[in-house]
Amino acid sequence: MIATNTRKGSTGRLTVRANLVSVGIALVAASIVLLLYQAVAFRSALYDDATLQASMISENISASLMFEDERSTKDVLRSLGRVAYLQSLSVYRKDGQLFTRYAREGITPEEAAEGTLQSTEHRTTLSLDDVFVRAPIEHNGHLLGYVVLVATSDLVRRQLVQYACFLGVACLGALSISTLVMNRMRRRVSEAERELEYLARTDPLTKLPNRRTFYEALDERLASAKEPSRYLGLVLIDLDDFKTVNDTLGHGAGDQLLQHVAYVLESTVGGRAMVSRMGGDEFAVTLTSTWKRGAVAELAGEIGAALCRPAPLCGREINVTASIGYASFPEAGNDSGSLMTSADIALYEAKSRGKNTVVGFSAEMMDAAHRRAYLEAELRKAVESDALDLVFQPQFECGSGTLVGAEVLARWTHGEEGDVSPGEFIPIAENSDLIVLLGRTVLQRACVAAAAWNASCPGAAVRVAVNVSARQLRHPNFVPDVMAALGASGLAPALLELELTESHLIANRETAIDVMNRLREAGVLLSIDDFGTGYSSLSYLHAFPVNALKIDRSFIERIPEDGQSIVTAILSMAHSFGLHAVAEGVEEPRQLAWLVDAGCDVVQGFLTGRPMSLDQFRALVENEAFDSQLA
Ligand code: C2E
Ligand code: CA
Ligand code: CA
Repeated sequence: MIATNTRKGSTGRLTVRANLVSVGIALVAASIVLLLYQAVAFRSALYDDATLQASMISENISASLMFEDERSTKDVLRSLGRVAYLQSLSVYRKDGQLFTRYAREGITPEEAAEGTLQSTEHRTTLSLDDVFVRAPIEHNGHLLGYVVLVATSDLVRRQLVQYACFLGVACLGALSISTLVMNRMRRRVSEAERELEYLARTDPLTKLPNRRTFYEALDERLASAKEPSRYLGLVLIDLDDFKTVNDTLGHGAGDQLLQHVAYVLESTVGGRAMVSRMGGDEFAVTLTSTWKRGAVAELAGEIGAALCRPAPLCGREINVTASIGYASFPEAGNDSGSLMTSADIALYEAKSRGKNTVVGFSAEMMDAAHRRAYLEAELRKAVESDALDLVFQPQFECGSGTLVGAEVLARWTHGEEGDVSPGEFIPIAENSDLIVLLGRTVLQRACVAAAAWNASCPGAAVRVAVNVSARQLRHPNFVPDVMAALGASGLAPALLELELTESHLIANRETAIDVMNRLREAGVLLSIDDFGTGYSSLSYLHAFPVNALKIDRSFIERIPEDGQSIVTAILSMAHSFGLHAVAEGVEEPRQLAWLVDAGCDVVQGFLTGRPMSLDQFRALVENEAFDSQLA
């Protein structure tokens, strides 16, 4: 950067010099033209004056010439001696003979003799020679002779020298003014350039170096790290739930939080490393190449701990955590691109391990990342060719044991990989826009299936529950998609339940509430999936227009040993808000017995029914209808 600035500086100086030289040349050219013009003008003026004098004299001496009175002629001629430029005056008779001559003092007779009858001259000539003027001497219209006046152009020369001096001074003045102006302009331009350079390299909010500067610095540091025994580390930091802060406290608070994080990062890192803002809520720290091995892990840990401390925001303190991934050269990559990819993979791992985690890159993660990329491409093909299968897991009412619905779950059997679990492919789809297409397909097919199973058994009202991911919910076409799926299948909206995940709702609170209200108005049922694993705050239960809570499997698993108190609390919370409670992951009869006893509304689990094919589920619905007809 310094090299570039020096280069820019000398280029600037060269430009100024070149400009000055051009201005100088232009001034000299203009001066020469002016000088030539003045030379002609001075000479013309001299000529005019000399002509005037000559004609005056010719008038004054006509009588004396007529009477051949040389003395009085000379007197008249001498009277002109005061005229500064006069060199000589010669009076000729009409036959061309010299009558008399007057020459100024100091003029030799040879010089005076230059004024002959033949020596006449034009008015406008570019010459510095003496001026000759000839005037006829007449009396009553008769030519008596001629007077020839020789004027020295010394005066013209002096005037021209004065004029040239004046022009020289004016040019020097103009040149120094333009030097001054150009230098000032150059300073302004380089100030503006510096300002632009700063803006192009700095994040305006946090005043940290931006993504571009980060990459340049990383490349520079990598170049010096390539010497043996050098080392370089890269830490990527991504705030957890930054969107929640933005959505709940406003963008002003979000900006304030980012500035706070920038401050914490800089004060933690000190002079050891460079902190940059990569965009959004992502920051990067590049450790200098002089650091010892293992320092990056240490620093990543320190950053994690520092960020954990409550942040002052909007007059209160809020808890911020971050997911941190780090990688080091040369183990994790030889160039900035691959080092960045490795740190990104570690960050992805940190994010998927839950919040507030620090993860270092390892080779296995790279394999996993390759597998993810491979599976994503394969999954896209599968979704686009409608090759996913759907299975349906029955849900029963606790008291009566009636079949009330089914949760639809996607299944994927890959040609070479075999069965890929939804636990693996759903997060992959969720990480790209693929989930939108996948979710839409599942929704459409589930609606068609549910419409069919209800149509084949008159009186049946068995609903279908469809999982909805955050990205789907955020998609502007989500509500129209749901309406289209209902319309195309003819399924009653009350027989469609959408399962939304707590954390997704919190992170996009405003839009989520709007979308949920529109769905509820259409008569669609909504439930909160995996309840208890996220925020479980009473305040948002009040704000979200849902019908049911699905208590997470992890709590049901612990029944009846130590899960009882939590499940009891969730049940009473649900009921006090007028919501149904669905227990999922019921595997054992004693869990079911406890749940029935505790007043749970609906159960779903391997005990009461594993996810099954559509044909199997239809048979179950028909069977139920048959049983109820018998009863
Ligand atoms: P989930 O929504 O919590 O779905 C329930 C999961 O628990 C299903 O796993 C189901 O097979 C499993 N399960 C049900 N009863 C029991 C039980 O008694 N014991 C045990 N151990 N497990 C039980 P699955 O099918 O592997 O799905 C995993 C997750 O994948 C689902 O969790 C859901 O979040 C997601 N998923 C599946 N299909 C879709 C889909 O079509 N769209 C979206 N967005 N997500 C889906
Ligand atoms: Ca679910
Ligand atoms: Ca669940």
